[in-house]
Parts: sequence; structure tokens; C-alpha cells
Amino acid sequence: MGRIAEATLTDGRKIQYVITDNPPRGGMKYTYFTPDRSRVVQFFLHPSDARDPDVRKRLEAIIGAYNPTLSEEEGGARGNSASMAAYFSRKFCWPEAIVRTPEFGIVCPAYPANFLFRSGASNTLELRGIDKRSSWFTTRNRRFLQPGELGNFRNMVELSICLARSVRRMHQAGLAHSDLSCNNVLIDPQTGSCVVIDIDSLVVPGIFPPKVVGTRGYIAPEVLETIDLPRKDPGRNLPCVYTDLHALAVLIYEYLLLRHPLFGPKIHAPDSSEMDDFLALGPRALFIEDPKDHSNRPDDLEMTIKDLGPALEELFLRAFVDGLHHPEERPAAMEWEKALVKTLDLLHPCEDQDCAAQWFVLHDTNHPVCPFCGGPVRRENIVRLHLKSPLRGREGQWAGAGVVNLYDNMPLFPWHVLANTFPDEKADWNMVAFACHSRGRWLLVNHSLQGMTAPNGGLVPPGRAAPLENGAVFRACGGEKGLLIEVSRGG
Ligand SMILES: [Zn+2]
Repeated sequence: MGRIAEATLTDGRKIQYVITDNPPRGGMKYTYFTPDRSRVVQFFLHPSDARDPDVRKRLEAIIGAYNPTLSEEEGGARGNSASMAAYFSRKFCWPEAIVRTPEFGIVCPAYPANFLFRSGASNTLELRGIDKRSSWFTTRNRRFLQPGELGNFRNMVELSICLARSVRRMHQAGLAHSDLSCNNVLIDPQTGSCVVIDIDSLVVPGIFPPKVVGTRGYIAPEVLETIDLPRKDPGRNLPCVYTDLHALAVLIYEYLLLRHPLFGPKIHAPDSSEMDDFLALGPRALFIEDPKDHSNRPDDLEMTIKDLGPALEELFLRAFVDGLHHPEERPAAMEWEKALVKTLDLLHPCEDQDCAAQWFVLHDTNHPVCPFCGGPVRRENIVRLHLKSPLRGREGQWAGAGVVNLYDNMPLFPWHVLANTFPDEKADWNMVAFACHSRGRWLLVNHSLQGMTAPNGGLVPPGRAAPLENGAVFRACGGEKGLLIEVSRGG
């Protein structure tokens, strides 16, 4: 163990840290741990960064008025409740304090333990203690990991929701990350969660954007195109919300399809690999699944965005066709969050025990086949709830509010039974009902809903179940917001 030192924070508090030889270094900072390893103390590699008044102003804003991991009462972001702050403190490693002495630096929470590999994660490499950057899971590096580390397709959808929600929260506050990439989002496919790190270089309103170069493969094409212009040149495209939205779409595409959306076979500059790379990711970037121009399409594309269902297909086309060179056309983080939640509700367990993905998006019930392994789904296992919300002021009229594909033991939550309710940081995550396949019958078991009816109109109290026959219609719960549910079976 190294020597213990003490740092003084700008608010006068003191914090101990352990000085080690060769501390871990990132692009801008080096890192020491506190003795209990719950936090890190980071100092800048270049004294000029530490002296830059913009760096200081930016950090003060990030730690204070823009901080979603602190409630408004404690000096954090406006409108942030204690429970919302607790929620987002698990989604970000957000800086907590500024160090005044021995030199300018910051204090951040350490990465949670589930985002570090344990020994045994790989048969061939010693990965213990290494952070779970997403490239371990989305590139050929996957082959080094034990199958248990990889999670399944459902986990990848869940962690995509988690990332979209975190980016949406930053953007809601007017912040942009500026360097979202596989290195700055750690993922844990086993639990379907992610954490956004390197929060100290955010783009903060009113402060000149940070000196961030970005990461190859995640830099927006328009930023790469003007990267050689001086930083303050008006023609230079700097990181902003729109550039985050490119990186977010790339990450979600990688999580769900395990490949990069722009790395294809097309060669733009045969004589220079450097120029080729610049063109392929910058001015001539072309989506490998572009519906009209197939010149960058790999020969062996088996799964495509179509297999992810209509909601995600539409957003990927907007991100990588309409919006690839027109930043304002890119889908917002909130749109990704909503489309991914809809997609999660359409997941179906693959019936092939050996299927590595285990789940797939059952969007086309006329063709119920797992796109990962080609395994079919038995028709009797297809049970869908078509949710309908009451039209305000029009008694007895209903509007479509989503489709839920059921599986045995699937829990339902408040957003499945109440109109205008969405699973987000404010949501009630208590199960209200669950689906059950018992002795050849499909049932919806009421766990805690008041006013749920059976298709025959009778009340179904908590602890009892309603049968799910094809065409059955019933109320999920009472009250003005209670949804109407129509059942369809067998596709
Ligand atoms: Zn399968």
C-alpha cells in the first residue's frame, strides 16, 4: 500500500487518498483512490488545464446547479427530488467535489464493483479489476469472455434504455457529454445496467465547450470534418447535444447488433488508410444498412434493424440515413428511451434452449421466428395485450397505448395499466400484476390492482386471475387513468 496523503476541498472538507507509483492515467487526468476505494481523487496531467478558468467554471456548474445526482435541496439540479437524485447517482460517476490543495483536482465516486471484471471472467485473459467498457462486449473481444459475462439480448435492451435515459437527463438540463463512447460508458450485461463516466468535460451552457477530441467511431461526422480548424474558428463544429445523439445511436446499435453502424467494406481512398478512415467516418460516412446505397453493406449481414421492430428501425434510419449528415434530424434521447421501452414490451423468450440471445423482438406475429437462431415460436405461446387509453372527454372511446407481448411469469407495472404513465426515474417500480401459463391456460394474475375486471365484467380482486382468451376485453384497473386491455392469441 502506498503513502496516505490528504487533499483539501474547496468547501473546506478534507479527504484522504493513497499515493501509488504509476497511478492510472486517462486523457486529461491521473487517479488515486481513497483508502476505502469508494472514491477517486483525480489531478490534471497538464498544469495549463488546471489553470484554465473555463475548466473551473465548468466543474463548479457540473457539481452544483447542473448536478442530477444531488437533490435541489442539497444544491443539485433544479426540480431534482431526493429519489431522482438517488436514481441517477447509480447511473453516473458524477464528480462530487473540487480539490483545492495540494493542487486543483476533483473527487468522483469509484466505479461500482459490478462494472469491473472479476477473476474468471475470461479463460484466456486475466481481466480482474478491469473496467467493463462496452467494446469488450460488442466487438470480437467477446470471444475472450465467458458466456456468463455476456448477458442476453434482453439485458442489452435494458442497458440501452438505461443509457438513453441518462443521456436524456443530461440533455434536459442543457448539458452535453461531448465524448460519449465505448470508453465512457461502462456496461454490465449480466444485470442490464450501465454507468456513464468521465463527466468532467461536459458542455455546459454559457461556457466555451471543453477541449475534447472525441473517440474514433463515435465522433459525429460533422465534428470530424472540421477537426483541423482552430478551436475558436466559427467554421469548426464543436461537441453539443446533436453530436451526443450521433454517439448515442452508435452505442445503441452496437449493443443490439454487436457491430458498428458505419464500419463496412466500402473503400473511399485506396492509397491512404488515414484518408480512408477520415472519409468513412466523416464527410462520406455511409450506414452499412442504408436502404438505397448498398455500397457499404457487408455480405454477411444476417440480423438487421428490421429484426428490432418498427420503433427502433425508424429511429436507426433517422439517425444513420436522414441524420447522419444532418444533425438536427437525429432522434432525441427521449425518443430512443420511449422506442426501447416499447421494444422491451415486445420481447419474447426464444424456445431454443441453446439460443445465445435467449430473447428476441416478436414484432411480426405472422412470422414468429427468432432472428438470432432461426428457432420458431409455438403459436399457443403467443399472447398479446393491446393497451387502450381513455380519450379525454369522449366517454367510451379509446386510443391505442401500446402492445405487450406476454411470457410466463412476466411482471406488469403501473405503466402497463395506467394512461400517461412511463417507466422513468419518477416511476413506481412495484409489480401490479403478472402473466401466468398454467395447465394450458394463460392467466393475468392481479397482484395489487383495484378495479380490475374479468372479460365477463366481474371484479377480479388482488390474488385472483382473469383468463386471457383470444378477443377478451377487460379493464386493467379502475379510475380515470385505468387502461382497457384487449387480448389476442396465436398471432
Ligand atoms: Zn433464438
